[in-house]
Amino acid sequence: MHFYILTLFPEMVLSGLTVSILRKAAERGAITIEAINIRDYTTDKHQKVDDYPYGGGAGMVMQAQPIYDAYEALVQRLGRRPRTIYVTPQGPTFTQPMAKALAKEEHLVFLCGHYEGIDERVLEEIVTDYVSIGDYVLTGGELPAMVMVDAISRMAPGVLTNEASGCFESFEGNLLEYPQYSRPASWNGKEAPSVLLSGDHEKIERWRREQSILRTKKYRPDLLKRADLTIQEKARYGVYDD
Ligand code: SAM
Repeated sequence: MHFYILTLFPEMVLSGLTVSILRKAAERGAITIEAINIRDYTTDKHQKVDDYPYGGGAGMVMQAQPIYDAYEALVQRLGRRPRTIYVTPQGPTFTQPMAKALAKEEHLVFLCGHYEGIDERVLEEIVTDYVSIGDYVLTGGELPAMVMVDAISRMAPGVLTNEASGCFESFEGNLLEYPQYSRPASWNGKEAPSVLLSGDHEKIERWRREQSILRTKKYRPDLLKRADLTIQEKARYGVYDD
């Protein structure tokens, strides 16, 4: 899977996305991450990429030309117009199912805004999806793009070497993951649950399922209403359809 991030701060996105699991995945060829510096495409003699907003108001607006030219150069190189996400607080909120769906794309472009945002006309020309990472406003789209590339990569084939670790996780079936424990069995006067040391896999699965439901009930009751629960589980944990 190939990611292309159109940004004014390529060093920022690369520094966060070339470590740990993603670095290893890139070394194995499972993903590539390219940061494209929008400023390299400006035709302004002073290398300017922004200007004052028409109609007045605070801040600067990223201009259409360098973004369009950076994007078109990529399109020429790839020989196709890939799915292109503008990260913006104005889009629908990014979710795990979205990460899974986007991981099926071979090429994915992210457009990072800065300042007051981007000239609407270039968005109309190149963007296929508008996605937010939450209801708050950040200074730029680099962190949202990094968040999304990280989450999508984890769902792409060959990125998690232990494939199972992407299988049951929080949000799968609208449940949060069960609590995890590791050695030592006793730490700071607290014991790891004995069932996890029992070696009885059926019991462990039952315990984990119960813990998932209880956690979701406690921390995300909104999710639990949409969870895949059996009729018996709904009755046991007091989950009632609206
Ligand atoms: N003036 C814009 C508005 O009110 O919608 C906000 C611009 S914000 C200061 C600058 C850039 O940061 C945006 O163009 C976008 O790319 C990015 N950004 C900020 N918050 C974001 C969020 N919650 N999700 C995704 N991108 C965000």
